[in-house]
Amino acid sequence: MPVKGFPSPTTVATRLVWPMAALILLILLLSGSVFWWMSRTLDQAAMQDERARVTLALNDLRQHTLERLRAFATTLAEAKVSRPPVDPVGTAAILTSENKSLTRQWAIFLLDTDNSVLFGSVGGRVAGQHDFDARQVIFDAVARDVRQKEISELPLHAGTAVTSGATRIVHDGWSAYVVAATTISNESPHIVVGASELDARALAEIAGPLGLQELRLTASNGPHRGGAIAVDDATDRGPAFLVWQSSLPSALINSQALTAIGAIALLTLAFAAGILLHVRGQLIELNRRQEQVQRLAGHDSLSGLPNRLLFGMRLDQELARIKRSDEGLAVMFLDLDRFKDVNDTYGHEAGDMLIRIVARRLSNLLRGADTLARFGGDEFAIIQTDVKDPRDAEALARRILDALTMPCEVPGGSVTIGVSIGVALSPRNGTERETLMRLADTALYQAKNGGRNRYSFFERQMDEALRLRKVVEDDLRAAILADELELHYQPQYKANGEEIVGVEALVRWPHPQHGMIPPQQFIAIAEERGLIIPLGEWVLRKACEDAKRWPGLRIAVNVSPIQFRQRDFVSSVMTIIETADIDPTRVELEVTEGVVMDDADAAEDAMMELRARGVRLALDDFGTGYSSLIYLRRFAFDKIKIDRSFLESMETTGESAILVHSVVHLGRALGLTVTAEGVETSEQHRFLQALGCHELQGYLFSKPVPADAIDRLLGIEPGKSRTDAVA
Ligand code: C2E
Ligand code: CA
Ligand code: CA
Repeated sequence: MPVKGFPSPTTVATRLVWPMAALILLILLLSGSVFWWMSRTLDQAAMQDERARVTLALNDLRQHTLERLRAFATTLAEAKVSRPPVDPVGTAAILTSENKSLTRQWAIFLLDTDNSVLFGSVGGRVAGQHDFDARQVIFDAVARDVRQKEISELPLHAGTAVTSGATRIVHDGWSAYVVAATTISNESPHIVVGASELDARALAEIAGPLGLQELRLTASNGPHRGGAIAVDDATDRGPAFLVWQSSLPSALINSQALTAIGAIALLTLAFAAGILLHVRGQLIELNRRQEQVQRLAGHDSLSGLPNRLLFGMRLDQELARIKRSDEGLAVMFLDLDRFKDVNDTYGHEAGDMLIRIVARRLSNLLRGADTLARFGGDEFAIIQTDVKDPRDAEALARRILDALTMPCEVPGGSVTIGVSIGVALSPRNGTERETLMRLADTALYQAKNGGRNRYSFFERQMDEALRLRKVVEDDLRAAILADELELHYQPQYKANGEEIVGVEALVRWPHPQHGMIPPQQFIAIAEERGLIIPLGEWVLRKACEDAKRWPGLRIAVNVSPIQFRQRDFVSSVMTIIETADIDPTRVELEVTEGVVMDDADAAEDAMMELRARGVRLALDDFGTGYSSLIYLRRFAFDKIKIDRSFLESMETTGESAILVHSVVHLGRALGLTVTAEGVETSEQHRFLQALGCHELQGYLFSKPVPADAIDRLLGIEPGKSRTDAVA
């Protein structure tokens, strides 16, 4: 159960997931962009470097080409072959001897100032004007270069000389060439031009040592991963570029980096998950400790309210405080009605929610000095301070009833509960903590028994009745079985008050701890608990046993309506009478009108049967219920016993006297024996005798007494039967 104010550990962990995920994502994004920026910078640097190296290599090639062309020009100059008429075959021989590869790969022309070919060689074969013209465009630029700046430099009379020359890379729309030109002076200035095609092989030779993937000529430097260098356009056919595939560092890094980043991300995730689990574990532990601390500190973890322990301490404090003043307080015990139903129907979560709602509503009704506690389950308790009058407590109890009977919204629906409240007041009911708490509990019990959803103030009788009730509930069954009950007998006299005609058996319970318990305090409980059946049988058996000592006397036994309703009631009565072996006509069953009120037909049948077997029936407590004598004619009563309450009020109200008068007359008219019970005075005796009452019973003659005392009254030796005595 989470501590109030603390979210559950799982909730905390769940709340942490998103920020952590966002953080990880942010870190990944940041490192990604840093990585991207770095690889781009690296790539740019690498490309610049590549470009520089390509440019350098091309420059080298140009320089190399120029050097070779100059070497060739020098040879020509020294051999003075450039002077017309040029001997092409001889020149070719010189060329060949000088540099085979030069002639084979190159196109070389020795030109006069007006571009007329003095000598030409293309791919190692002698070439003429026509061959030059076909290629002239690629030579135009270099030729112009040297003519413009170099011819003027040549020392016309200085004999043989070769200028520094010029070199370029040009394209003619199909192919690129390294072209070079130089001027030689051999009395008259001539130009030597040479071109070497940058074919696939030549490009590969450049690319190879530079470590470039591919070097080729293309018309566009459009999107490709690599560098490009523009090539001079010799023909106006549009631009051309030498392009190459770069082996960029990012390409290499990327694949590895992606794996690395993936691994890092996974690791981070695992780490974060680990942290989350750890945090959750710690929170669970923290929660547990918090709960422990709260419990120790006297708080209930679900509602956050003080628990029983703290409640007791506060009550002690309050009681000590009010001892010195004339202030009062109320202790209230509350028990929710139907809380278990809510728990069973809607689940524990709803139950917990309900407890919190109740706790909040109750707190709202109290003042700062009051104390609200939860004892666990659905039990709450309140110390109401500053109670000057019981009505203060009553007002609060009413408000609690109002507040708690309002519907509560819980997961799963709206529920309406109720509450039972028991109230004990201090100092009126007590000044000790234990006493007040016990009395409030007793009052609560009373409230619940009274039908729930009500309050009940403690009353003294309540406590005793309750204590006794508990004793009866706990011990009566065992007492019946252990034969611990006793029977007393109250004699019934003829109207003259001298002759005993019968005795009424009245049960007594001498309790080992609680003394003599009168029947009024356990008969009703015995009826509730179903104990009246064994008890009734015990009484009848015992009474029949004792009756044997008093031959000729009637023995009256009280029978509960519950016994009467038993299906086998008649047979069990008859069995007992037969077993005791006494005359059934001596046995008189006293029943109250409750017997005939509940199920008249069944009662009538049973009564008829009993009468048929000779058993007599008396209507007890006549006048306290609703029965009319006319109505009672239907039932086979032999006798009516006028209730004691009539005699009690007879002296004070003339009305009762008239009533008793008419009852006696009517009873006699109906052929019933009329008995008056509770005769205490000789005035009553005289009055009843004068009215024509048949029999009398009461303290005036004798209280209920043990069987031995009846023996003495009858003038027989205790324990012996009258016939024995007579004999
Ligand atoms: P009840 O049947 O009306 O019995 C008469 C009660 O009145 C007896 O009380 C008796 O002691 C009392 N009493 C008799 N004369 C006087 C008098 O002059 N003045 C006053 N003030 N009281 C008098 P007890 O013995 O306490 O019995 C109370 C009730 O308990 C009985 O009322 C009867 O209803 C019930 N009871 C007693 N024994 C049994 C029993 O064995 N079975 C059943 N089912 N109920 C029994
Ligand atoms: Ca009776
Ligand atoms: Ca009675």
